[in-house]
Order: sequence, then structure tokens, then C-alpha cells
Amino acid sequence: MAAALEVQGVSKVYRNGGAVTRAVDHVSLSIEPGEFVALVGPSGSGKTTLLAILAGLLNPTEGTVKIDGEELSKLGERKRALFRRQKIGFTFQANNLVPYLTVLENVTLMLKLNNRYDEAGLQRAKDLLARLGLGDRLHYLPRQISGGQQQRVAIARSLIHLPSLVLADEPTASLDTERAFQVVETFANLIHEQKRAGVMVTHDLRMVKYVDRVIQMLDGHIERVLDSRADISCLANPADCTPIPVDALDPNAAAQACPSPY
Ligand code: ADP
Repeated sequence: MAAALEVQGVSKVYRNGGAVTRAVDHVSLSIEPGEFVALVGPSGSGKTTLLAILAGLLNPTEGTVKIDGEELSKLGERKRALFRRQKIGFTFQANNLVPYLTVLENVTLMLKLNNRYDEAGLQRAKDLLARLGLGDRLHYLPRQISGGQQQRVAIARSLIHLPSLVLADEPTASLDTERAFQVVETFANLIHEQKRAGVMVTHDLRMVKYVDRVIQMLDGHIERVLDSRADISCLANPADCTPIPVDALDPNAAAQACPSPY
């Protein structure tokens, strides 16, 4: 299957006077349609910078980013803006909902901007919002719903125009634990079902249990990639995998070592 996102040797270098910061350092990765990836790492490890590069909002100093085989940096400003609007969905920490549009209008706005607003799109928006627990809030304004509900509207908005790549920056930052799990689980299900490529930056390692791969960043580079269910579960819930003594009666019973968070 062709990759939805292909990143080759991407670096971002900032120079301030004599100081040089490699915010992103030779990162390569590829994500297929229907694959959900978490980007984790300590503060300052380059997650936000990488996400902005994937979104086409920031140019890398070197390297290439291809979405659906199209190289972002080769597109002119106008084409790139159009490409971004059609092919990429975003959810940021600040949900950036339009305050004077209703919940439903905030979501269908993405369809209108892409000239794809029709009956089917409207129904899809209603279905998506219902799936995110907002079926009875369609005609409320953002200020009339909670922060968590606003974040779910932002998630619906990021998916409604059927983008190839969905980027989420700390989508659960304003949610309580139960809602956070529900939102990320639904988000993961939608990414899998609709065959989007999803990238989520998160500080909350409990949320990685819903992703297919965890990319751990450190000092701008990819420090480690976890793609086995066992390793991802351990990272999400270390209490579940305290090392088990190897049973002498069962030589195949290996101790389950828990990967350290960073
Ligand atoms: P994270 O999102 O993992 O916290 P960032 O991508 O925000 O990391 O930052 C990575 C590194 O790049 C940090 O050392 C940060 O200080 C630096 N950095 C980010 N943006 C800039 C900028 N505009 N100018 C200079 N340094 C920057």
C-alpha cells in the first residue's frame, strides 16, 4: 500500500546568534492509510516542530515530506494552502472553533471551504458528531458547551472533509480522564475505519493504548519506535507489566520487561 505520509531525512535547524538548535534532526518515517501513530517525548524533543512541518505550516531546513505522494515543498504557496485544506485535518490544543457558528456549522464549514458541502456531507457531519457524543448539541454555540465537548467538535472538524492525514496536537489536554479515553478511542476507530493516516502528539502516555505505533522523540531525533501491542500496552499502563519471574517449569515464559517512558 502506498504511504499516506512519507517523511525523508527531515531536519529543522534554528540559528539565533551563535546558538544552533536542531529542533528536528534527520527524521524519517512513513505512515500508511488506516494507521494511527503517537508522537511522544519530553518537552523540547521536537514534537511540535515536526507536527508543524507535517502540516506544511513550517518548511524543513532539509528533507522532504510527501502526502499522498505529493511533495509539500514543491507546491507554491497557493497550491500548498489548497492542498493542506483538502488533504490534512487538524486538531490543536486550542480548538479554534468559530465562536458565532453552531457546533454543526463549525464542522460543515470545512466542507464549505472545500466546495464539498452537500446533503451527504451534512448527514456525515451529524453522524460524526453523534458518534462523538454531541448529537444533542448540534445547534449550540461553542461557548454553550464544555471545553471537552469543544475539543470533540474540533476532532469532528478534522475528519469531516475525508483528509488523507489527520494531525492532532494534545487533543485530550482539556478533557477529564474518562472523556479523554473515549475521545481517543473514537478517534482511533475513525482513523482505522476511514483509512486516514493519523498522528497524535501527546504527553499523556495512557492514551497510546489506542495507537498502532509509538514514536518516541529525544533531542529532535527518533529515539525509539514501539510497534508491538505488548510494548505499547506497557508504555500506556506500566502497572500491567511489572517483570514476571520466569517460571522454571515453563522455559518459554519470558519476563515482560517494561519499556521506560523516555
Ligand atoms: P516539543 O514540542 O517536543 O516540546 P518543540 O518542537 O517545541 O518541542 O521544540 C524543540 C526544540 O526546538 C526546543 O529546544 C525549542 O526550544 C526549539 N525551538 C522551537 N521553536 C523554535 C524557534 N522558533 N526558534 C528557536 N528554537 C526553537
